[in-house]
Amino acid sequence: MTWFKREKKPIENPTPVEERRVRTEGLWTKCSSCRAIIWKKDLETNWEVCPKCDHHFRLGARRRLELLLDDEEWIEHDGELASSDPLHFSDTKPYAQRLQDARHKLGMNDAVITAEGRLNGRPVICCSMEFGFIGGSMGAVVGEKVTRATERSLAQKHPLIVVSSSGGARMMEGAISLMQLAKTSAALARLDDARVPFISILTDPTTGGVTASYAMLGDLNVAEPGALIGFAGPRVIEQTIRQKLPEGFQTAEFLLEHGFLDAVISRKELKPYLSQALDFFLQPS
Ligand SMILES: [Zn+2]
Repeated sequence: MTWFKREKKPIENPTPVEERRVRTEGLWTKCSSCRAIIWKKDLETNWEVCPKCDHHFRLGARRRLELLLDDEEWIEHDGELASSDPLHFSDTKPYAQRLQDARHKLGMNDAVITAEGRLNGRPVICCSMEFGFIGGSMGAVVGEKVTRATERSLAQKHPLIVVSSSGGARMMEGAISLMQLAKTSAALARLDDARVPFISILTDPTTGGVTASYAMLGDLNVAEPGALIGFAGPRVIEQTIRQKLPEGFQTAEFLLEHGFLDAVISRKELKPYLSQALDFFLQPS
């Protein structure tokens, strides 16, 4: 007897199970400040600023140049410079491997892009740091590129803008990375002597050797809202001075209040603000 057996084949669904699921993964993100669920596309068109609470997410180096420079018409300089791993450093992973992974992921040779372009019609030299490239750390290449950009700015008498986003000096290059503090600072001193304006933009995060060198040497030091800016991390400071740190310590707003910054400007206001500042700097005296 076969009455209890199913002889007909079950109805088949033409699409395999995997394809029937709606893919939502990776399309949405949660704002770390207001916890709102935001569509990534919305965030992208809003220059990575939360449309609900104005929280500034990190912006990539290339997008930053698109934000600041006119019509994306800019020339990249020194893009071919790459670290030679002078110490053959290795921690949990060889440094050479880290470099290779970051290059592959981001399509750039190191943590900064140097561009020559125009900001509201005015020629400028602009360095834009990429935090995604080994924490935006400054090794020999970043130091050299910022120095060359400064020298180019000096030779052409065009204002220099550096957008920092960095964890500091690159430990995998040891003392060589520390030498970049002196090198970049010396080049900026020559720019200062020649009275060519230098505007430093500090974005989240700007810490360590980058804060201790070019990021704080601008004729104008401007930060984005909520950016973490400091030298050592708060835990290290608390352990050293054995005191509780005040609320909002090392945020852009705190630093502005205590005289370390000239202004905190939201991302969408940044380009008009810079344009106005350059007008002021370059007006005939
Ligand atoms: Zn938000």
